Amino acid sequence: MTSKLRETGGEVGEEAAERWAALVATARRSVADGLVVGTSGNVSARVGDVVLVTPSGVPYDRLTPDDITGVDLTGRQVLGTLVPTSELPMHLAVYRSTDARAIVHTHAVHATAVSTLVSELPLVHYMAAALGGPVRVAPYAAYGTDELAGHMLRALAGRSGCLLRNHGTLTYGATLDQAYDRTAQLEWMCRLWLTASSVPGLTPSLLTEAQLAEVGERLKGYGQRR
Ligand code: 13P
Ligand code: ZN
Repeated sequence: MTSKLRETGGEVGEEAAERWAALVATARRSVADGLVVGTSGNVSARVGDVVLVTPSGVPYDRLTPDDITGVDLTGRQVLGTLVPTSELPMHLAVYRSTDARAIVHTHAVHATAVSTLVSELPLVHYMAAALGGPVRVAPYAAYGTDELAGHMLRALAGRSGCLLRNHGTLTYGATLDQAYDRTAQLEWMCRLWLTASSVPGLTPSLLTEAQLAEVGERLKGYGQRR
């Protein structure tokens, strides 16, 4: 146990230490892939009733195993001494009301651009089904507020991702990789819509909800047999 952890009395199990390493790798990847700039965005992962979170305002390349930061589902810090992400209200709201095991929040540029233009991402591609349906845009509220968490949770109903108006994205999944992949797919779909809708004189064709539902069923069998 490190001195930092001793201060908050936290014991770091092997599972939590492994998940922390994976969480830091995911956060670094979000910068490397251009989904966030600097310390924007945040990542979390649930291990039992502890939620590991990126600390607020700390460049991800500086994070070490000793910097593990964790809170319980009420937001009380149980691991580490670094101040947890300012978006704890959003992360905790998702863990309290879904089966999420990991959450990724970014300021991905195409997704954020779309959040300023529409209240729902038009159905330009069937991969919307991988997020549970047409992706909604949560109304704007200041970062880190309970108000933003409330808007986000409503936009997320029946979906595993949403856009945050004039702010960014939030997706969740059963694993960090799944949550991350959903963010990447969402950003890609937003880029696709912006590209298709920016051709003068032409309007992109859209899928119907029925076509999307059909894909939702097909995706259950997508990929390799387990
Ligand atoms: P944190 O550095 O506190 O995680 O904040 C970044 C962010 O994206 C706020 O919305
Ligand atoms: Zn943000």
